[in-house]
Amino acid sequence: MHAQTQSHHYLDSLNNAQRSAVEAINGPVLVLAGAGTGKTRVLTTRLAYILDSNAAFPGQILAVTFTNKAAQEMKERVSAMLGGLPVDGWWLGTFHALNARMLRRHAELVGLNSNFSIIDPDDQIRLLKQLMDAANIDLKKWPAKVAAQIIERWKDQALTPSQISASDAGDFADGRILDIYKTYQNRLREINACDFGDLILHMISIFKDAANNDVLAEYHRQFRYIMVDEYQDTNIAQYLWLRLLAQGSANICCVGDDDQSIYGWRGAEVGNILKFEKDFVGAKIVRLEQNYRSTGHILAAASAVINHNENRLGKTLWSDGGDGEKLVVKGLWDGDSEARWVGEKIEELQHKGQTLNQIAILVRAGFQMRSFEERLIALGIHYRVIGGPRFYERAEIRDALAYLRVTTQPNDDLAFERIINLPKRGIGKATIEMLYAHARGAGISLFQAVCDMCESDELRPKVREALSQLTSQFIGWREQIAIMPHNELCACILEESGYNAMLKADKAPEAAGRLENLKEMVAGMEEYDSLEAFLEHVALVLENREKGNASDAVTLITLHGAKGLEYDNVFLPGWEEGLFPSQRAMDETGLKGLEEERRLAYVGITRARKRAFISFVANRQMYGSWVNAIPSRFVGELPDGAVLTESDMGFAERRSSHWDSSGHGYGGGHSGGQTSNFGGNIYARRRPAHNSHPTQRGFAAANKVAGPEYRRGQRVVHRSFGEGEIIYIDGQKLDILFDDGQTKRVMASFIESID
Ligand code: ATP
Ligand code: MG
Repeated sequence: MHAQTQSHHYLDSLNNAQRSAVEAINGPVLVLAGAGTGKTRVLTTRLAYILDSNAAFPGQILAVTFTNKAAQEMKERVSAMLGGLPVDGWWLGTFHALNARMLRRHAELVGLNSNFSIIDPDDQIRLLKQLMDAANIDLKKWPAKVAAQIIERWKDQALTPSQISASDAGDFADGRILDIYKTYQNRLREINACDFGDLILHMISIFKDAANNDVLAEYHRQFRYIMVDEYQDTNIAQYLWLRLLAQGSANICCVGDDDQSIYGWRGAEVGNILKFEKDFVGAKIVRLEQNYRSTGHILAAASAVINHNENRLGKTLWSDGGDGEKLVVKGLWDGDSEARWVGEKIEELQHKGQTLNQIAILVRAGFQMRSFEERLIALGIHYRVIGGPRFYERAEIRDALAYLRVTTQPNDDLAFERIINLPKRGIGKATIEMLYAHARGAGISLFQAVCDMCESDELRPKVREALSQLTSQFIGWREQIAIMPHNELCACILEESGYNAMLKADKAPEAAGRLENLKEMVAGMEEYDSLEAFLEHVALVLENREKGNASDAVTLITLHGAKGLEYDNVFLPGWEEGLFPSQRAMDETGLKGLEEERRLAYVGITRARKRAFISFVANRQMYGSWVNAIPSRFVGELPDGAVLTESDMGFAERRSSHWDSSGHGYGGGHSGGQTSNFGGNIYARRRPAHNSHPTQRGFAAANKVAGPEYRRGQRVVHRSFGEGEIIYIDGQKLDILFDDGQTKRVMASFIESID
């Protein structure tokens, strides 16, 4: 362990309140304080202090951060404070990352293999669509996306299907949502996969299950100190998980700010922070009031806005850094002129010597980014887009990821299905149905089903050839995992599978960009130690994609993603009713939604150290149609003394606090999310047909898990070859002499006895 530094020099830069929170390492501690008061700094310093005073080894501290990036920064800072202490093996990361790591160790306790896949929201919806369609649920009336949300909210509350009563389940899909949830969980288990919510849900089940109480006890012994940043945005499942783990040492320190709770729409419970004292008896509560981040004007503006919320604890914040520059408020004609104005301001800042790294544009909704991206490209200003899986959501990237997933994990049916005919291999829907039917019949994965069927005469020779080439390629690639660097392997896969060739032959204007994206991805893989580590990263957060490799670049980020970050100069565009506050948030949850939007405004303003620029437009174009907009009520809540209104087209007078309900039409959605076109509802077509035609009967037989026993000489009927007699049996493969005189090798799941 690192040699003890008696002076703890890094403590000197803290104020007394911060220092008291750092030094109180035993027992529960809550730091409840406003933006920029040094909460994250307290956590970082506390980590260093615990290590430095030999109270624990790195592996004995569990620290939860809000993003992977924040975890990385914290590691680097602690390491630097302690003179370069190695950071390997630390339990420092997001709830998702920490739980994924734990679950890999104990996967078998919940019926998974340790190499389970983590599926993303897109796959989640695809899977739900299949299951709902198979259950004859009208997807137009009951969208799979909504089902996904309901299930997610249950998981946020740590509710497994057995913990939900039919009466609490609601009437989605005519009251069948609970069944869907059950089927969905079973299906995930069958394909050895988890969604994000499962990571923590499974761990909680393992911890709570008396049959494996040694697991929790082991973690109690291991984790002597627990720390959590952004505690105001934990959901119930995360809270339960923390409480279970904290039963060990009770040395838990959480930091947060009730005014920055902005994930209520995703199940966060600000109540968790408010009842900390009750949950952790004898907790020491530390309040920090001095803001070290922002100028007086910025702080005054943020405080004035948040003061309009009724439901808050209320805090005092002060700064001794002087008032600084006033916030600039600007009204413009439309989105393009807003982007032009922001571009001009950025150039002015550059002339004043500001680096691009110290400039950020914080948007409410993802769609706002495009006009800024285009403007910045036109001006030749480097930028990076942070916050959201946009890059990895692109179709070509998802295809490449699917190849990698099948390579590492052949049971990943969703991934395999995605690329089985990409590039085109002549494998049509009927073949896929048949493969799935066999997989189901024999209780095996799609991949295994393909391998089996390639040894039979079920498939047309061309299809069989294509599939058998594909499976042997996968087997070959799998063998290369241990041998070849994983980025080279990925490049190989894209080449050998014909995927690159498909894009090269594609005349569509996007095709070249797609190849570029794949190259970007392969280049980015180098950063990871292994293929698994890369896939895990992608599945987990997908946060930081840089456009180009510019080290100095403007940051484009959503307000939600900007939590905890700080920049000298912050642009806050699109402050219009309906966009911000978002109409959807207000429609869905009324005053509660509005207050959450206002907290988001508070988060936005308090990201700025020196300058903030707020803008709104009169005409906003959204999804092809124009909307007349009026300035956000939040603009009206800014205090006159802290604001400089750049007059333009009379907007100064229009700063108003009225809310006009004509501001409809803005999505202001919390998330984007594309759905993929490939695949379709395979399950629907796999439903046994109620038809006595022999080909259909064989199909029905495929849905039975263990088929009947067969014997030589038995008369059978096959779904497409007709009647015949079994002459040889090799496990699930049967040689049959058909009545037309031909002998064929077929799968047992496709025949029925007619003896
Ligand atoms: P947020 O609520 O936005 O997450 P926070 O409370 O976590 O903010 P930090 O990010 O830890 O605040 O700190 C804000 C800024 O103030 C950082 O740049 C940090 O380095 C600086 N800072 C914090 N405490 C001190 C201090 N005692 N002396 C000087 N600078 C400080
Ligand atoms: Mg912070």
